Amino acid sequence: MNHSKRIYLSPPHMSGDEQSFIQQAFDSNWIAPLGENVVQFENEICRYTGSPSSLAVSSGTAAIHLALILLGVSRNDYVICQSLTFVATANPILYQGAQPVFIDSEPDTWNMSPAALEKALYKMNKENCLPKAVIIVNLLGQSAKYEELCTIAEYYQVPVIEDAAESLGSSYKGKKCGTFGKFGILSFNGNKIITTSGGGMLLSDDHEALARAKFLATQARDPAIHYEHSQTGFNYRMSNILAGIGRGQLLHIEERVEARREIFNRYKSGLSTIDGLDFMPELPDSKSNRWLTALTLSPESNLSPPVLLHALEKENIESRPIWKPLHTQPLFRGSPYFEHENGRDFANQLFQTGICLPSGSSLTLEEQEKTIEIIKITLKQSSV
Ligand SMILES: *Cc1c(COP(=O)(O)O)cnc(C)c1O
Repeated sequence: MNHSKRIYLSPPHMSGDEQSFIQQAFDSNWIAPLGENVVQFENEICRYTGSPSSLAVSSGTAAIHLALILLGVSRNDYVICQSLTFVATANPILYQGAQPVFIDSEPDTWNMSPAALEKALYKMNKENCLPKAVIIVNLLGQSAKYEELCTIAEYYQVPVIEDAAESLGSSYKGKKCGTFGKFGILSFNGNKIITTSGGGMLLSDDHEALARAKFLATQARDPAIHYEHSQTGFNYRMSNILAGIGRGQLLHIEERVEARREIFNRYKSGLSTIDGLDFMPELPDSKSNRWLTALTLSPESNLSPPVLLHALEKENIESRPIWKPLHTQPLFRGSPYFEHENGRDFANQLFQTGICLPSGSSLTLEEQEKTIEIIKITLKQSSV
């Protein structure tokens, strides 16, 4: 049993500024619902990302669900989705009774492959079953290739949803992540770069669509003095207390991005002397928030992610494999999948060889050096 303090993958990092926003909510007795913190948090996220409009909701998953509803996704419709992602990206497709079609990743960003997207849309168009939406993810903070991807989606007139849950603070060609699709979504779950303990945000330049999202997120009450309903609504809004935490967190987003990028760079230079490791790339013209530092173990390392994971765990250090691609999950068995290169499943290859290291912005230098040391020792032992 190792009694040293556990080093977590990506724990919450409080700034100390959260309390005053929460106190304001208490002082005005606007505990819930909504209130000044929600309105201001939405404004502040708009100002930070450059999104013209935003809606604070209870989770990133709820934001994706609302986006799909706004795009008219319903029973038996198809929705294209990046395969290499957390299950929350695709679960809302199932909430709507729609069918996911999964797309492989490409090597430059580990995100949706434009070539595979083109293959899928070409085929679906020919078969007269174009999807109602394409959901693109910015994995571990790295932006996808939006220029190529959006051009293809536009050609087939299929709207894009940008799952920027992991990439607040990242940018692509000078534009902030979350602002590329018809809708963008953010998450403020406890493990994300900033947190409200749980929460999300729906972004769009379509004010009318977000007004409708607000209506749906607050139980779809028709205008009347009594409670009148003609559509299915949801209880998806963010509470005023949690928005207060978000406001205190957002004040420090730039420091958090720089801290995580520094952590990435320290891993990279600390491990540069050993062979067999490849770090997640960063696309030129893009800036990743490096939410999680990820690397892949090449065959010459003689090491598989579970062995390294176990070695770190023995030292009370949390690490994780990269997301298991959704097309390989039992939940989505039988869903179509389009590869980047025929016969080479790149997303699955990343899963088989990839590992995410402790990357929280509160990670201390000593904690990181300890982690680097364990990785070095484990790699040395494995190479013969
Ligand atoms: C965290 C996450 C979500 C879901 O966000 P929640 O706020 O936890 O519902 C969606 N997509 C990705 C890629 C995520 O990492």
